[in-house]
Amino acid sequence: MSSASPGITPAGSPTITESGVPAGGKRVLLAKPRGYCAGVDRAVIAVEKALELYGAPVYVRKEIVHNRHVVETLRERGVIFVDETSEVPEGELVVFSAHGVSPAVHAEAAERNLRTIDATCPLVTKVHKEVNRFAKDDYDILLIGHEGHEEVEGTAGEAPDKVQLVDTAEDVDKVEIRDPSKVIWLSQTTLSVDETMERVDQLRDKFPGLADPPSDDICYATTNRQVAVKAMAAECDLVLVVGSTNSSNSKRLVEVALKAGARASYLVDFAHEVDEAWLEGVETVGVTSGASVPEVLVMDLLAWLAERGWGNVDEVTTANEKIAFALPHELRKVGKA
Ligand code: SF4
Repeated sequence: MSSASPGITPAGSPTITESGVPAGGKRVLLAKPRGYCAGVDRAVIAVEKALELYGAPVYVRKEIVHNRHVVETLRERGVIFVDETSEVPEGELVVFSAHGVSPAVHAEAAERNLRTIDATCPLVTKVHKEVNRFAKDDYDILLIGHEGHEEVEGTAGEAPDKVQLVDTAEDVDKVEIRDPSKVIWLSQTTLSVDETMERVDQLRDKFPGLADPPSDDICYATTNRQVAVKAMAAECDLVLVVGSTNSSNSKRLVEVALKAGARASYLVDFAHEVDEAWLEGVETVGVTSGASVPEVLVMDLLAWLAERGWGNVDEVTTANEKIAFALPHELRKVGKA
């Protein structure tokens, strides 16, 4: 299951091997796929293009993607991050983040004459469309997701009177529906695959007629990163996940690693956040990163580990991703002008 990534090794840093590092001794298992997904890549490029085309400042509603490094870098280049559309001065340009927004936010932007670029990931848009479709057919929609997460707020906002959020097992008890033959579950895109299915089972015990989504809502990138970390976790004394604490899919990777047999697992934004005490008695360190994490941060972590004796890196590949999304249509139009 191992394969090398040509050109991935930074000068004077760890050696990433093709043949695999023998068990025993200090080694790193590096999950692949990891890091940037197609939706994050597209959203970050959209903001960069907006800066290039229109100049600073460019307003972005919420964090464009949930990563400290990305947000800080864009802020330095002239992006102003706001929490609400009402904070953007009339007539200015605002980019909506990869997590998506509700129709109410679009309406507010129109009222304020804002120019908008919608960087919502197409896979989040797909879930919005499902909500619309089933709300139109008068279904009760049980949206499995994390309370307060921006994506869930945007998705539920498509049909607030038809959607009920199910986060915890306790929420399942509280759900009430109008017609047991017209109830469907949908989900946030970045959940733990296994935990979501547990929640679905609980819901189905209560509502045997519960319908499944037309296709998976948990996206390919979330699923693939969880499969990759699962494949190596049992061999790891420690799994380090590069990602931010507000990144749902990054946090899920820590949980999945622990469930799949890693002895310990931590989330870090940057290599310098690793506590050296975590490495005591450790031979095999697993490394992966969330879907909003640029590869440079993983390379920094590998270099940090190499300096401490973990210089042999074996890449564990469970899938090769080739998905890419076209830029938001507002930018494609400009490109053609
Ligand atoms: S994690 Fe999935 S849904 Fe979220 S931006 Fe990436 S591809 Fe899109």
